[in-house]
Order: sequence, then structure tokens, then C-alpha cells
Amino acid sequence: MSEKKLFRLEGKVQHYAWGGMYYINSLLGRPESREPSAEYWMGAHQSAPSVVNGSTLDKLVKANPEEVLGAKVWERFGGLPYLLKILDVNDMLSIQVHPTKVEAEKGFARENAEGIALNASNRNYKDDNHKPEIMVALSEFWLLHGFLPEDKLKHVLQTVPEFSFLLPVFEKEGYYGLYKVVMEMPQEEVNKVLRPLAERAFPAYEADKLSKSDPAFWTGRVIENDPKGLDNLDRGIFSIYFFNIMEVHPGDAVFQDAGIPHAYLEGQNVELMANSDNVLRGGLTPKHIDVPELLKHTRFEAVHPKILQGDTVKGGLEIIYNSPAPDFVVSKITLKAGQKYEHTSEATEIMLVLEGDAVITGEDGEAIDLKKGQSVVTYYNAGYHIQSQAGTIIYKASVPVK
Ligand SMILES: [Zn+2]
Repeated sequence: MSEKKLFRLEGKVQHYAWGGMYYINSLLGRPESREPSAEYWMGAHQSAPSVVNGSTLDKLVKANPEEVLGAKVWERFGGLPYLLKILDVNDMLSIQVHPTKVEAEKGFARENAEGIALNASNRNYKDDNHKPEIMVALSEFWLLHGFLPEDKLKHVLQTVPEFSFLLPVFEKEGYYGLYKVVMEMPQEEVNKVLRPLAERAFPAYEADKLSKSDPAFWTGRVIENDPKGLDNLDRGIFSIYFFNIMEVHPGDAVFQDAGIPHAYLEGQNVELMANSDNVLRGGLTPKHIDVPELLKHTRFEAVHPKILQGDTVKGGLEIIYNSPAPDFVVSKITLKAGQKYEHTSEATEIMLVLEGDAVITGEDGEAIDLKKGQSVVTYYNAGYHIQSQAGTIIYKASVPVK
């Protein structure tokens, strides 16, 4: 009999204030709770490792790294390189940028040397890793993603009267100069510039007259959510007008590379990211904003948003969403009743049943019954197959081992 390489995995719910009340509890088959549930984490991140086989995944990796991860992943990454999440975005998240690997290493070392505590509110770098992210929409999903292409941004500066003074700045100094001006603007001036715009947007938002592709809609929502409202306007409103507003349909994906400013606005998704917590914020948040650090790591260039529809493999049973990130790959397995998915893992894999039911059977013949919301982890080089009685949709995280 071969050794056991397939285990149930129990993730951890994060109750951040921006989360929704229903989606994650309903997915996990848990009773409604009084606090919002924002994220469900599956992985080995030290702050919330998943429970596996009476231990936690980070401990299991440390005890037997090559057996759990495979030699290649262990040598290259020194741990499980990814973190898999389900997100329920009820209120918009902060505008953010993630550093490159090289910059994260430098920033982490610098803040350590400066003696800034890891949990300090002015700490930017929680670890020395980059944090590219890919998301697959589970509902209609809205996000901000990168700067508008030049002609579109010019059009915004020409047509929104409050922004007309920024047009010559953009023409002369480009994306960097424009963003620097609004990010360094004193708060009283932000209030003065944005107030008339906010006074137009908010009533139209409240009267339900705006579409979600209109930046005025999200401006209205910022004001609705901020108790200080019109008296202390969030400079993130500039970004809502300067960035691409993307609508992503269920099953479609978006990749956020280092340096691309972004913010999730609304909806549910599966998110797979490098195992890191490094976030530089640029608004729509009461949290610490370090403007010089943000300006240093933002890519000041036009972004033409790309929707990824993935590549179909395994005779149509699996869609793989490839990205440039070496740390992770996410895929979606769809089985009708009676169909069989067979695979041998090339790295540690985590799978979550999003819909229906499934039975996953390892090489040793042991079968694990999985209901909606349940998940498993496979170690490196685990042969297994999955079948379903009534059909299922499963999301899988792995590492693109070459
Ligand atoms: Zn992000």
C-alpha cells in the first residue's frame, strides 16, 4: 500500500468589515453569523494556516517539505508558494499596488532594520515576497484595474469640469505627474476639488440613475459608506475616474501583476495569489497610505484590460487559467454525473467543491466524500481521480512546475 497523500482540508474565514453576510456561510454550509465574512483562506500562510490531518498545513510542509511540496517547488520557493481564497466583496476594497519580488525583499529588510514592528499600522512590508494575483469571477464582478489608456483618460480630464486643471499636468508629465499631484494634494484641497463632483454623483447614485460602468456610481458608493461623507472626501475618488472599471462575468479571469493599481468593487470570486501580505494602499481606506512608497511601486502606464477565458484541457473537463506568475495556477474542473477526472499532482494541490458533490479517490483506494464548500489537499505526486453523482464544479490551485 502506498503512503497517504490526500487529506481533507479545513480553511479559515476572515471577518473583514467589507465582506458580505451570506455568501461564504452559505458556501460552507454554516449558519448565518452576525459579522461579515469577507474571505475564506486555504493554504499554509502563517497567520491563518489550514487544518489538515490533525495538524496545520504550514507545520506539515515544514516537517516534510519534499514529500508535501515536491523537490522542485521546495527548492524554488522554500514553502507552499500560493494562497487560495474565496472572496465576497460587499463594500469596495482599498486601492492597492503590490511590489515586485526584488522590491519586496528590499522593503522588508529596510523596515526590519528601521525597527518597525510587523503589526505596526505604518508597516508596508509584512514579508519579503511579491503578490501577483489572479481572480476568477463567481458572480458578475466589478473592479478597478490599471490606468485608463491615454485617449480615454484625456477624455475624462476634458469632460469632468472639476478635473480640467489636471489636463495640462497630464499632457506635460504623464501618468506619474497626474497621480503624484492628486496623491500629494492636501486634504482641504481634495475636499474643495471633489465636492461639486460628489454633490452631483451622490443624489444620482441614491436615485439609482447610474450604471456600474460609470465612475459616478462608485463615487456615490464611497460617500454612502463613509460616515464623514462630503466633509472628508476620499482621494481614491480620483482613481475611480483615472482607472479602468472592469466588469467580469462568471468563469472569466483577470490577472494583476506587480505594480498594477487595482481595487475590488463588488461581487464574489476565487482568488489565487502568491503567499504574501504586501499591500501598498492608495485610497478608499482608513488604513495607512505611504504615498512615496506607493509612487515608487506603481507602474505609470496605460493598461488595456485583458479578460482571460482559460485553456480547456482533459477532454473538456478542466479550464486552466495560465498567467505569467511562476507561483501558482488556478483551474476549474466541471464534471457531469458519471464523468471521471484523473490526474497525478506535480505539486501540492488544493481543491474546493464550489457546486454539487464529488468523490475523490487516491492511489491507495481511499475515497473522500466532498460536499459543496468542502476541500482537500494532495501532496506532491499523488495519483487520484474525481467523480460526481449529480455533477460538480471544483476550483483547484497548483504550481506550474516545469
Ligand atoms: Zn491586490
